[in-house]
Amino acid sequence: MGRRSRILRLPAIIGLAVTMLFYQIYDYCRKGTKRFACTIFILCCFMVGNSFSFPVFQEEKGFVSDSEKENAVAAVAASDITLADEQKVTYEELEMLEDEDVLDGYEDAELHGMESVDKYLLDEILNAEEAEAAEATQGEPEEAEAKGEEKEAVFDESDWKLVLINKQHPIPDDYTVTLGPIKTIKGTMQCDERIIDELLSMMQAASEDGVNLAICSPYRDFAWQEVLFNRKIKAYMNKGMSYMEAYKISSQAVTVPGASEHQLGLAIDIVSDVYINLDEGFAETDAGIWLEEHCAEYGFVLRYPKGKEHITSIEFEPWHFRYVGKEAAQVIMEENLCLEEFWEKYL
Ligand SMILES: [Zn+2]
Repeated sequence: MGRRSRILRLPAIIGLAVTMLFYQIYDYCRKGTKRFACTIFILCCFMVGNSFSFPVFQEEKGFVSDSEKENAVAAVAASDITLADEQKVTYEELEMLEDEDVLDGYEDAELHGMESVDKYLLDEILNAEEAEAAEATQGEPEEAEAKGEEKEAVFDESDWKLVLINKQHPIPDDYTVTLGPIKTIKGTMQCDERIIDELLSMMQAASEDGVNLAICSPYRDFAWQEVLFNRKIKAYMNKGMSYMEAYKISSQAVTVPGASEHQLGLAIDIVSDVYINLDEGFAETDAGIWLEEHCAEYGFVLRYPKGKEHITSIEFEPWHFRYVGKEAAQVIMEENLCLEEFWEKYL
């Protein structure tokens, strides 16, 4: 019994310990069904939590076993639902599908008369805009320079049309006036014969636009200019001015003899049938407005413009037109220059 009891001692102790443990658990749970239910619930949670690490659930694409798949397919087959066959789309076909939008675009393009439609990325559009803007800013000065060169090449100091006459540049002694007649019902007026055709064309065009222009004082010789000038001085002196004061003021209203464009035969004072006063008010009349807009088309310019008095030394004369030729006239009127400024810039 001694050896046998020694061999059986260990299992007997373990068996006794396990029996006592289960008894203790049983005794613990027996005292309350809630405790028993809690213990069972905890055990279940422990088992469920561990079960997901079981290899059968670690298949790719979710926790679906082969048997479950088969069951699902069988269930679907048994039902009315039909699954579409899986379509294999090639790379070329994918490209075709993408291009459907583009094809719609082509149809739109055809409807709107466009020849083709291309796809542009936003960056490409923005870059194009930037490039265009850069090109525009680069192109402008080049163009301006090119124009400037052209103008400088076109205009010539010795051109009779561009002769500059003012207080600083009196008419040269050897200047010869080539006068031609402008015949009217009342009599014959004179101006440089080379400008008569264009002057008459301008008057004709104005008349077609409903504006009846009237020429007054075209050519004046030195003597007549002197008479006008002296008459002005006398009028100011009668108001109590000294000769020097009267001369100074008169020279702003009437061109000093020897410095008048009227003596060249290239200047003409123009009014209209409804407004005959040589004053600033003429600028606001239909004739004044028409002349300012169209005079350059016939080679004439507003010789004493508003705002240039400090350069021309002559007050604003909306009625006094000077012939300079079409090319120069376009430049002078477009750039709002007086003849002095034109000389400074282009000659
Ligand atoms: Zn005049």
